[in-house]
Amino acid sequence: MTRRIAILGATGSVGESTLDVIARHPGRFAIGALTAHSQWEKLAHLCRVHRPQIAVLANPEAALKLERALAHECPGIHVLAGEAGLTEAATSSEIDTVVAAIVGAAGLRSTVAAAVAGKRILLANKEALVIGGAVFMRAVETGGATLLPIDSEHNAIFQCLPASYARNPAASGVRRIVLTASGGPFRTRPLAELPTVTADEACAHPNWVMGRKISVDSATMMNKGLEMIEAHWLFGVPRERIEIVVHPESVIHSLVEYVDGSMLAQLGHPDMRTPIAQALAFPDRVDTGIAELDLVRLGSLHFSAPDHLRFPCLALAAAALDAGGTAPAILNAANEVAVAAFLDSRIRYTDIAPACTEALARLPATNVQCLDDAMAADAEARAVARSWLKLPKAA
Ligand code: NAD
Ligand code: MG
Repeated sequence: MTRRIAILGATGSVGESTLDVIARHPGRFAIGALTAHSQWEKLAHLCRVHRPQIAVLANPEAALKLERALAHECPGIHVLAGEAGLTEAATSSEIDTVVAAIVGAAGLRSTVAAAVAGKRILLANKEALVIGGAVFMRAVETGGATLLPIDSEHNAIFQCLPASYARNPAASGVRRIVLTASGGPFRTRPLAELPTVTADEACAHPNWVMGRKISVDSATMMNKGLEMIEAHWLFGVPRERIEIVVHPESVIHSLVEYVDGSMLAQLGHPDMRTPIAQALAFPDRVDTGIAELDLVRLGSLHFSAPDHLRFPCLALAAAALDAGGTAPAILNAANEVAVAAFLDSRIRYTDIAPACTEALARLPATNVQCLDDAMAADAEARAVARSWLKLPKAA
């Protein structure tokens, strides 16, 4: 059976890695839909190469340009725009698998729509799970969707858990989960220099090549905080059974410890094509072109506890998970605003964590019954973060 795949966020880093794996196995995988935000020229190029049925740009003006560009060469491609277009791509009957690789809260509704429609979802967009955890997991269950993590740590955990695992650690003898973290580019940078680090320095990750938002999150370790919340929802594990260990080589992608003392780990080069291929082909295995991992050449691996003074975002994420309800959505939204402002050189790197602290302190955590509850909290938190950071109000 050929899997027909929609890639939400096809022009991004995860999108490109996904296209690379798919292109190696043309009989097994076919592209049904490609989406992006506004990069119409890049998406037009991908459409010419992969000939999807559906192409979507969230930005309506860019979608018009894409439509004109494709009208002569690829008249069969249905060009859509906006949130409705993203949802159409995620739920179309032409598609069985959705790669959720939009960055940030912008990916929430289309990803949840894919869950409601019962698709096989390869989840990179961790923010969707952080914001809408309970609603998202309920949609997966009621929609009969299959959720496969491609965030490298969660994919590693998925591979180390038994096939029968059903979000119940005790029933499978799981004692705890260990998430590894590289520590990012500022792991050893003198603390006094952090207020003046630049966006490019923050994005120069020592091991992974990724989009700019997640690169900054890796530098602050907010990424690991979001991943702790992601792991909680994906695997049904309470926070106190999720440990974070700094492992600068990024070779062990995460571990599962069982009650008998066994600890299983998944190792590999830091290359997203491995977890993407594992989930695309699951339960089969397909070639990715990635070289063997030479353990002898590696020689040694290192582990240490995270430094909470250097990485205050870790404690913020733990507090948000403990508070529950809208708190993770508030944290995520404030972080998105602050990271975008830092990438724009409007604020300092060291303003990111305090902006998140402020939003969590100012806004109470309330219940999330539906996505609108989470998105209302998201909007409030963006306003609080903008005001605290003295940024102009959003358009
Ligand atoms: P990226 O910035 O490289 O790409 C983001 C994609 O989303 C682009 O295609 C962009 O056009 C699209 N997009 C952005 N804003 C949008 C909007 N408002 N509406 C519709 N589409 C929009 O990001 P990335 O590094 O590929 O990360 C994507 C997601 O995967 C993030 O949630 C990230 O945390 C997660 N992730 C990434 C990696 C990695 O190695 N890059 C690893 C693990 C998890
Ligand atoms: Mg990760």
